[in-house]
Amino acid sequence: MKPLLITIDGPAGAGKTTVSKILARKLGYRYLDTGALYRAVALKVIENHVHPDQDDELASLCQNLDIQWVHKEGVNRLICNGKDITDRIRTEKISMMASKVSANPIVRQKLLYLQRKMGENKGVVAEGRDMGTVVFANADIKFFLDANPQTRAMRRYNEIESQSSSTFEQVEKQIRQRDQNDSTRQLAPLKASHDAICIDSTKLSIKQVVEQILDHIFARF
Ligand code: C5P
Repeated sequence: MKPLLITIDGPAGAGKTTVSKILARKLGYRYLDTGALYRAVALKVIENHVHPDQDDELASLCQNLDIQWVHKEGVNRLICNGKDITDRIRTEKISMMASKVSANPIVRQKLLYLQRKMGENKGVVAEGRDMGTVVFANADIKFFLDANPQTRAMRRYNEIESQSSSTFEQVEKQIRQRDQNDSTRQLAPLKASHDAICIDSTKLSIKQVVEQILDHIFARF
């Protein structure tokens, strides 16, 4: 099988990350986590006290931003301006700021170029919100992974429970807020591409989702 460019879009907690990583490993592909890039911008915005609504401040921040994925001891590490920020971008505060800055055209433009560069050699599973609709509109095969909001919130809550003091209700509220921000923004909103295969993971295990995706891939290629 020739190397493919596979996209997986969907809202937070739908299972994209786990599924994409397993899929990439099974196929021997690279895994591209594009949410992490928006999280890197969010971290820099917070650290540098940049106002997320001030375009000139955001533009200058983006201009001086160098983001790279580095494969180290079997895992991908995110390096931003020379510093490893992998373990600092998974907080709820960063999630909400990422959702806010991701609506800004300056930020999206900066990351668009970067993401396309990262995906250009194919053999990639790219995960995000607009992979199939915008960034890799010509992808070989596209998936949209969804689940009901309560299930997604519960998955997210279980994931962060040990490091966070947030209650389930707070996590659910944030997930719904992010869904709302991400799907109603003007630029590259969260939605399934017209040619995406939609999978509802509410009642499926990770293994079942991966199997369904692989079945679709092998049926087509
Ligand atoms: O996927 P993750 O939860 O890490 O993404 C964080 C935020 O980054 C999302 O809520 C969304 O606002 C933004 N994002 C985006 N486009 C992508 C990936 C993420 O707008 N392709």
